[in-house]
Amino acid sequence: MRGKKANLLCANASLRRWGAVSSFISWDELENAIRNCRRCSLHRSRRNAVPGEGSRESQVILIGEAPGSTEDEMGRPFVGAAGKLLTVIMESAGVPRWNVYITNVVKCRPPNNREPSDDEISLCSVYLEAQLRLLKPRAIVTLGNIAGRKIFSMGGMEWSGISRMRGRVYKMNILGLEAVVIPTLHPAAALYNPQLKKLLESDFELIKGVLDSFGGSISRPKTLFNYMKQQH
Ligand code: SF4
Repeated sequence: MRGKKANLLCANASLRRWGAVSSFISWDELENAIRNCRRCSLHRSRRNAVPGEGSRESQVILIGEAPGSTEDEMGRPFVGAAGKLLTVIMESAGVPRWNVYITNVVKCRPPNNREPSDDEISLCSVYLEAQLRLLKPRAIVTLGNIAGRKIFSMGGMEWSGISRMRGRVYKMNILGLEAVVIPTLHPAAALYNPQLKKLLESDFELIKGVLDSFGGSISRPKTLFNYMKQQH
């Protein structure tokens, strides 16, 4: 009986700890928690966790699958070959990389670039949720199948695979937030395939059109509250 009670207390403490994760009040607190996280076994093989980077005032978030080797080495998202292609395509479409926030579903690199498991995605999702709550994006761009599936499941919508879902705009409610979701390909898929590269480019033209409909600015207008939030 005593053992059961101790286990219950332990579980409650753990729930309280992880319940607090999704209610981080500052970006710095959240990113520090990610860098020190040991929730799943990926922490054993990572060199650096990769929280994400970009404008914390953006109305747009890009979400990929997981860090690759270069990202793991540098602790930054989308800085390898696929990331460079993504940056070029974004700039050509008129969506400057530093005007959006970029992250991944899973913040640590899976060994040998395998796909993250369902358990890893589930354990790491507290951080993605916290990022969405802090940023409150009006547009969510998912890169590849894993990110699309994750965001559609958070929005309570069915996912039928990247080739059927990409290149269209979906409205959904995620964590109480009304947002448009635009699934596109992961840039790694387009690296050596000119046809997929064309599709990625055309999806970013669509994304640019959606962002233009926000009134010309990708960033949220600065308010005193936003400014003070950034200082913490
Ligand atoms: S992948 Fe996510 S849950 Fe797993 S150790 Fe890294 S930050 Fe923590």
